[in-house]
Amino acid sequence: MRIERLTLYTAELHYAGAAYAFAGGRSYRAFTSSVVTLTTDDGRQGFGEVCPCGPNYMPAFAGGMPSCLEQLAPAVLGADPRQTLAINARMDQALCGHAYAKAAIDLACWDLLGKSAGVPVYILLGGLLSDAMPLHRIVPLADADSMTRDLAGFRADGFRHFQIKLGHAMADDGALLRELAVAKQPDEIWVGDVNGAWRRDEALRFSRSLADLDIYLEQPCASYEACRSVRRLGCHPVKLDESINSLADVRRALEDDAMDAMSLKVSKFGGLTRSRVIRDLCVDAGIPLTIEDAWGSGIATAAYAHLAASTPPSGLLNTTDLHGYNTVQLATGAPQVSDGRMVLSDRAGLGVEPDFSVLGQPVRQWPA
Ligand SMILES: [Mg+2]
Repeated sequence: MRIERLTLYTAELHYAGAAYAFAGGRSYRAFTSSVVTLTTDDGRQGFGEVCPCGPNYMPAFAGGMPSCLEQLAPAVLGADPRQTLAINARMDQALCGHAYAKAAIDLACWDLLGKSAGVPVYILLGGLLSDAMPLHRIVPLADADSMTRDLAGFRADGFRHFQIKLGHAMADDGALLRELAVAKQPDEIWVGDVNGAWRRDEALRFSRSLADLDIYLEQPCASYEACRSVRRLGCHPVKLDESINSLADVRRALEDDAMDAMSLKVSKFGGLTRSRVIRDLCVDAGIPLTIEDAWGSGIATAAYAHLAASTPPSGLLNTTDLHGYNTVQLATGAPQVSDGRMVLSDRAGLGVEPDFSVLGQPVRQWPA
């Protein structure tokens, strides 16, 4: 099997709520998603999707996708998509970094690998270990009334895991959490996601003043070192996200005992090939994961859902239904959500089919 054609589509994913806001004054109404299709010499098609959460969240830029693919396409055309490590080696030879762009191709290769084997991707990642995956829902940064309303709405929809965005003035965040926590149920998992907004001393004061509250603090400070201090000196378990960008970062955090949980965003690590290694390492180390991505529609969701579904329940803190946050769907066959859990289909590959009537004309294709 050889890759004969690479095609890029883009689409705007509009957020279903008022605005997706988080610390640092970052607020979005829509995100640009890139969908890549790989067509092979035996007529199969594989699909991948990446959608950065705006240009100032992580080292990923939707506007850079065509330029990155211009560099990557010649390296993968003619190659066997089933040989995922070999494909990644070719991409690394052609372009340093830019993991998010490589992820789109990597996901499409896993889709083709599954389709050619006639099995869902989770089988190839180890088998079905978490068949009904717990979902978290993100409560965006807003005033106390809207955040209370969002949280109550998600709870009514059956969600039990909440990622509550923090990033007001530190004292206001404390008061807000106290207010929200009045309704907290014993079976709920709460994560306060600061997205790196606090200084170390602020994070420590916050943690000590809310020591009785059963929450994780996610990425309280921008730097890895400051988060590590909060983990050592504060009162809450710490989850790392933005400061983990490579396998080497994961290894260092494990050696330093610097985290209690971690967010594994598949596109940040270049796709499923590399994310699987990180997943296995964290499972072995006893670090539970939120397996997810920065943003996306049904294709991105299906990709990380296959990784989540093949993770032992003890290693899977939760995942999320990114395709449920948008007003538009780019694919059919996406994972099904009910009562705060997500279930995959048993279709071969990633199990999703892009809706080309929504995607429209390709932005670019290789060969031209
Ligand atoms: Mg986060």
